[in-house]
Order: sequence, then structure tokens, then C-alpha cells
Amino acid sequence: MKKDIIIIGGGVIGLMCAYCLQKSGRTITIIDKNNLTDGASFGNAGLLSAFKKAPLSNPGVVLDTLKLMIKGQSPVNIHPSLDLHLYKWLYKFAASATQERLKRTLALFERYGELSLNIYKDMLENDGMDFYFKEDGLLLVYTEEKNFNEKLQIYKNTHNVEILSKEKTKEYMPIINDKVIGSFLLKENGHLDPTEFVVELKKYLEKNNVEFLLNEEVTKLEFENNEISKIYTSKSSYSAQTYILSTGFDDTLAKQAQNRFLMTPAKGYSITFTMQEEQKPKTCALFADLFIAMTPRRDTVRITSKLEIGSTNPNIVQKQINSIYKNLSLYTEDFKKENIEEWAGFRPLTINDMPIIGFDKTYKNLVYATGLGWLGITFAPAIGKIINDLITINKKNETNIDILLFSSFYQG
Ligand SMILES: Cc1cc2nc3c(=O)[nH]c(=O)nc-3n(C[C@H](O)[C@H](O)[C@H](O)COP(=O)(O)OP(=O)(O)OC[C@H]3O[C@@H](n4cnc5c(N)ncnc54)[C@H](O)[C@@H]3O)c2cc1C
Repeated sequence: MKKDIIIIGGGVIGLMCAYCLQKSGRTITIIDKNNLTDGASFGNAGLLSAFKKAPLSNPGVVLDTLKLMIKGQSPVNIHPSLDLHLYKWLYKFAASATQERLKRTLALFERYGELSLNIYKDMLENDGMDFYFKEDGLLLVYTEEKNFNEKLQIYKNTHNVEILSKEKTKEYMPIINDKVIGSFLLKENGHLDPTEFVVELKKYLEKNNVEFLLNEEVTKLEFENNEISKIYTSKSSYSAQTYILSTGFDDTLAKQAQNRFLMTPAKGYSITFTMQEEQKPKTCALFADLFIAMTPRRDTVRITSKLEIGSTNPNIVQKQINSIYKNLSLYTEDFKKENIEEWAGFRPLTINDMPIIGFDKTYKNLVYATGLGWLGITFAPAIGKIINDLITINKKNETNIDILLFSSFYQG
């Protein structure tokens, strides 16, 4: 029997699409090649950082990264590749980082960040879900005077940003050392525990009759009359009215629909551990000169860093873990970490921080929901709502204002 909606990929984006669509009365099947405990949506930092924080593609990012690379401290690594697509991506990324785009991106981030925060709060208050969620700001911590002063010019007259001295920063982050100059508290941002969130959302969706087909890989899309007529998996075949492709960084199936998006996997690491309660950070923080995030959770603390482009090797490379510890030690006193868990995953990174969302231009029943890069947790609820509105109300990209504003199909 033909299904209503099949979502391929059960990361946070696929799950949030399912959440919004089941609320609209649609019948959903989620197919994932794993069991949802491994992808980018599970091991990330959990920052909800849409407010007052520069996007990745901002003017100066290329020069700053090159300087750090020369000093051997860069969190960014670019692996040489024979794939010309990577060089096209890098070129377009550098060309996108303009002042004009920055203003537009910041405004879009605020719009969809607020929408997402409201949906997260609604899930906690009205759906009876229970996941670790805090709206207590994001601390940007600096050791480099030049970087701090540049940000000071931007933030000194900005609403909802508090400038903190070294001493005040220490109250939020007891482990910092004397090299720290000060910090900025971006008060509207927050954080959650992505592991708890994915587990809790899956439980909620199961209770609300969403079907999960796990450990089942979609291997082939079959096309007929400008539609997907059937999909083949490692176990069976299915057909549906509508298909949503939310496969994260993996664009194998999009290529079958003749799409090669300007998206690249950007590998990152997280290290999760327990530490003494009185030393734990009071809120989430970004050690901003070297892009290391530190997020307190219910019982643990997680640090994340690195942005490796041109690698699809899923293994944990010890050299990278050691480099994260080394960079962290530039900001902190030595502190004891126990019960350490290391993880690596891939961000689906577009050239300009704009997601790949909307109907395929050829296949009428195929919708994309990916390309959220380093902000998938920040925007997942908004993406779920946009995809729901697109499928159930507007039915065309051109009549959905959010697709026109936010999708990389229109912001290329
Ligand atoms: C180190 C790190 C730190 C991060 N920190 C943050 C942060 O602080 N805040 C934030 O907002 N974002 C953060 N992110 C980004 C965020 O994690 C991602 O944007 C988000 O998880 C992407 O979700 P997704 O659902 O698109 O992809 P994924 O979570 O990768 O899910 C895609 C799913 O598709 C499945 N799949 C793929 N191909 C197939 C197939 N053929 N058949 C069946 N299933 C398939 C996969 O198994 C996977 O489960 C971070 C990412 C990393 C790596």
C-alpha cells in the first residue's frame, strides 16, 4: 500500500519534519540506515546560537583562518582532494562572505532562531517532553586582545549583550586562566542536550503513530513521469505520496535526482566527560579565538571543535583530539575530566549558512531538508515548520515566503 509521507533520514531535521507533519494529521514513516544514536544530531554541542553571533560565512573568516593555520592552531583543516566539487565549494564559500550578506544572514538567523526557541518551549510545556534545555545565554570568551576589541566595537551598544570583565567571566566559567581578557554574554541564546532531545522526540513520535524503519538504508530512488515512483532499501521497497530527503551531509540520493548541491561534509569532534560540580561552567561558552564550544549538561560537560573539510573518514583521529585539548589549555587551568567519551560527526555545510530546503525542481513529490551546517539544532524546529507549511499549505516553493527567504535554492 502507498504510504503518505516517507522521510529518509532520522536526524534532528527529519525528526522535526515528522513532528510538525504529524501535528497536521499526516501519516509518517521515517527510514534511517542507522538507529539514530550516531549521526551529527546526537554528538553535537547543542548550542542554540541564532542571536547576535556571526555566521560562518562572514567577511574576514578566510584571512583569520589562514593566520591560525600558519600558527598551527586552526580548528579548520582542508584535506586535499581530487574532487573538483570541493574547490568549487571553497571558492563559492569565500565569495559569499560579504558584508551585505552578513546583515541579511543575521536577520534571518534571528527570525528562525526565535521561531525555533518557541517551538522547543512548546514541546516542553505542551507535549509533555522532558529534555535538558536552558535559555541562559552564550558566553563568548577571548584571550586575544585584537579579537576582543573588534567585538567590543560591535557589542558595546548592542541590546541583550553584556560585556563581562575577566573576574565576572570567572564567575560563569571557574576554570579559565589568567590569559582570558573578558567575554560577552549573548543573552538570547541557549543550549540543550541533543542526545536527550533526539531520544525524547523519537519516543514522542512513536507514541503518536510515526513509523520508524531503522537500520534500513535507502539505496535507490526510482523515477517515473517527473515523480519518485518507488524507493528501494536494504530490506524492501516502498512508495509514498511525498518523500522528504533529510540525509544530512550524505548527498548520495540527491545525486540520483541529478542534484549536486554546493554542500560539503565538515567533520567535527566532541568530548563528553564528568568534572567537579563547582568547576562546571554556569552556561554554555565559545572560546571564540579558537572556536571551541563548552556546554554544561545535566550530569556532564561537552566540548566540541574542529571543522575538517574534504574528509569523509568517520574515525576518531587522536591527533585532532589532542589538538582540541591543547587549544583548550590556552584558556583554562588544568582540570580533572572523568568518564571521557569521544565522538566525531559531519556537519552538512553549505557555502553561505543557508539550508537546502524545498521541492526538487524536476521531481514533484520530492522535498529536501538538509544543509543546516553548524546550526542544525538551532534551526531544526523552524525547518520542521517550514517543510510542514510547504507540503500541507503552500505546495510550491514560490508561494512559501520562508523558502524564498531562507532556502539556498533562492539565496545561492
Ligand atoms: C562537532 C559538531 C558540533 C555541532 N554543534 C552544533 C551546535 O552547537 N548547535 C547546532 O545548532 N548545531 C550544531 N552542529 C550541527 C548539527 O549537529 C547538524 O546541523 C545537524 O545535526 C544536522 O542534522 P540532520 O538531520 O540534517 O543530519 P544527521 O543528523 O546527519 O541525520 C541524517 C540521517 O540520515 C541518515 N541517512 C543518510 N543517508 C541515508 C540513506 N541512504 N538511507 C537511510 N538513512 C540515511 C543517517 O543515518 C542520519 O541518521 C554540530 C555538528 C557537529 C559535527
